[in-house]
Amino acid sequence: MIINGRNYPDVKRNILMNPGPATTTDTVKYAQVIPDICPREKEFCDIMHQMSLDLVKIVHGDPEKFVGVLFCGSGTMNIDVTVSSLVPAGKKILILNNGSYSARAVEVARAYHVDHIDLQLPIDRPIDVAKAEEALSADPDIAVVYCCMHETGTGVLNPIREIGAAAHAHGCTMISDTTSAYAMIPIDIEKDNQDFIMASAQKGLQSMTGLSFIVGRESIIDASADYPVRSYYTNLYMQHSFIREHGEMRFTPPVQTIYATKQAILEYFAEGEQAKWERHQSVWAALYDGLEKLGFRMAIKKEYQSRLVISVLCPDDPAFDFGAMHDYLYKYGYTIYSGKVAGVPMFRMCALGALTAADIPGVFDCIRDYMKEAGMAIPCQYN
Ligand SMILES: *Cc1c(COP(=O)(O)O)cnc(C)c1O
Repeated sequence: MIINGRNYPDVKRNILMNPGPATTTDTVKYAQVIPDICPREKEFCDIMHQMSLDLVKIVHGDPEKFVGVLFCGSGTMNIDVTVSSLVPAGKKILILNNGSYSARAVEVARAYHVDHIDLQLPIDRPIDVAKAEEALSADPDIAVVYCCMHETGTGVLNPIREIGAAAHAHGCTMISDTTSAYAMIPIDIEKDNQDFIMASAQKGLQSMTGLSFIVGRESIIDASADYPVRSYYTNLYMQHSFIREHGEMRFTPPVQTIYATKQAILEYFAEGEQAKWERHQSVWAALYDGLEKLGFRMAIKKEYQSRLVISVLCPDDPAFDFGAMHDYLYKYGYTIYSGKVAGVPMFRMCALGALTAADIPGVFDCIRDYMKEAGMAIPCQYN
């Protein structure tokens, strides 16, 4: 393919249906191939600065109020950053726990000895906002509310706008882990009542791994200068104030991933927020349809789903073997993802990445071939 007048070989295209890293375009892949550069050069700092602004723009944030703060690390880094940095001394964080990613925030709170309430809620449905309100009314020491917008382990979508409204009614800061929704499901940070959201470059943005970022309210970051410093590497105020002063990250950034992400953001804006969301939903619908035709059953009610991740119950057919099905598909460039929800064996098929609905029929031809070869019943058997 020709990029910027140069000829590059095509890269084999794999269809990743794991929950990120996602399938990328070749233009994003090749954007990493750049002349070596020291990340302290103004040229590079300018790219990071523009990227921070663009990350705020993607969620329609007012640049006078919201900032994008970049970190070098996987998406869990953002959970570490927000939970360790944004809880004032003597105050608590209320974690609305309905899946493995909000449970991860509980683990972070424990690791840093952050006073927290682990409000465990059913994992197979969205958070009940009344339960959050109850917890808020019962404890005036709660200063921060945390939830995960899209629990990637199940595919459940949580009502962050309503949760954020409840948090704000109680004077709390609202943090949502939007890692598996950002740049896919449209988010308006202020209308959605969010103070801090987060993501990593390899999910909705369809870029590479190693860059994570938080979009948040600068006034709260500045206020957090006086909060306990529980982590040296992942303190939000330290990172943000350093970038603001010097234009660089405190420590070495993921240089090539930042070039890839610059290109991915260009492609994001060229596609458009609504068109991109519709594309992901069309992939989800094609996956759903293909699964239903083969008799697979889903673990989560359709109306609770994010329309990005499908949790599929493993059939009871003794001829079914997830590992064998995975390996069969993998040979043809299709990647599916195993997982257990509450001890029940499942697998996941996700609509992230640079895929279209036209990619999906081939997936099901391949699944059907596997089922025939394995001697499985079609449609699938469940007891
Ligand atoms: C992917 C993901 C993360 C980050 O996971 P890493 O393995 O650290 O990249 C965090 N939260 C959610 C909801 C995710 O989907």
